[in-house]
Amino acid sequence: MSDIENILRIKTDLLCRGLYLSKSLLSHYKTQGISIDFGRKGGAGPLGGRYFLLADNETLVNVALWDKKQRTPYTLGEKKGSFFEILNGQEDSLFTKLKLIPNPKYYSPQYKTSDGVEMKRIALVHGVDCLGTTIYQKCKYWECGEACKFCGIELSLQYDTTIVEKSAQQISEVITVAKKEGRCSHMTITSGTEASEDKGALRYTNILRGLKQNHPDIPLHIQIEPLDNLNYLNQLKEAGADTIGIHIEVLTDELRKRITPGKASIPYSSFVKSWKHAINTFGANQVESFVLMGFGEPHEIFMNKIEEMISLGIIPFITPVRSIPLKHSITPPTNPDDLLRVYYKTAELMKEYGVNPLKNKAGCVRCGGCSAINESFKAI
Ligand code: SF4
Repeated sequence: MSDIENILRIKTDLLCRGLYLSKSLLSHYKTQGISIDFGRKGGAGPLGGRYFLLADNETLVNVALWDKKQRTPYTLGEKKGSFFEILNGQEDSLFTKLKLIPNPKYYSPQYKTSDGVEMKRIALVHGVDCLGTTIYQKCKYWECGEACKFCGIELSLQYDTTIVEKSAQQISEVITVAKKEGRCSHMTITSGTEASEDKGALRYTNILRGLKQNHPDIPLHIQIEPLDNLNYLNQLKEAGADTIGIHIEVLTDELRKRITPGKASIPYSSFVKSWKHAINTFGANQVESFVLMGFGEPHEIFMNKIEEMISLGIIPFITPVRSIPLKHSITPPTNPDDLLRVYYKTAELMKEYGVNPLKNKAGCVRCGGCSAINESFKAI
């Protein structure tokens, strides 16, 4: 097995199973000067994890940290040098080693925007150098009780870790300090879906213009639902978005109704229309869609849909489903062997259709922490 195949296998396993972090060890780590916690409890992207580099000191992985031993065979062990030992409890052996990516200095409360908001309430560093922010922390589907089952967007407000709406000025100020620390080379900007016809596109365009004016060197990624008026996609590009995510998340109609009850009212054909238009507008390799795996979808149907997306030029950003910390489990962990098989097949299809995720300029695909599609593409 080559090095990259090995990295792909370990990353896929960790994405699916996460790590056990003993609460009793938190103070022990602290005495060694190691600051570790259970990660974000709300917001966009998979929650309740921290970012680590794998043993190659290069590959990023967003790993769930569980406080219950029975959730995973893997345990965060002692730190030796700059890496933690990861133990396989089932076999009582060393599984791998991981390097924890430290939180940036600006998370400390004394860092505030000029209007007095703590900077960590405005934007967080995802992985090594991707700044992530949610510009509108509410969503129309939460209001009517039809939120996606995996989503934690409004939890951040419940835990009071952020504010509802952010301005371009606030985000620009965080970019400035994050850049100084070497923690911002590109951005993921997301938002809850708004009830208006533009679904939040106009809010994005205002923010994008401000950010591009203040930081023209930072490529920006945005995420939005399919739009009926496709002209908004042109406006988003003109305002400064470099890449876009139009996320279907779940691939069969039946599962969409169960897992994404509000969003399921958008027909699949609308996704196809917006994806096609986005490819024409943003260019090859600059449009992605999150796809969650692990809801029990039949493999063949799943792969057929993935092929359809790739044939349109869309990068399927496949991630295993992860339960939200402190909420009930929505699903058992995705089987890593099944996911690995899907990653290899997806990489083959991307090669066949000339889609290259390594050419993506900004956001989740470039960051790559939550999915192993980039590694699978390198491995074949
Ligand atoms: S892929 Fe990176 S930027 Fe996207 S949600 Fe995951 S950690 Fe955040």
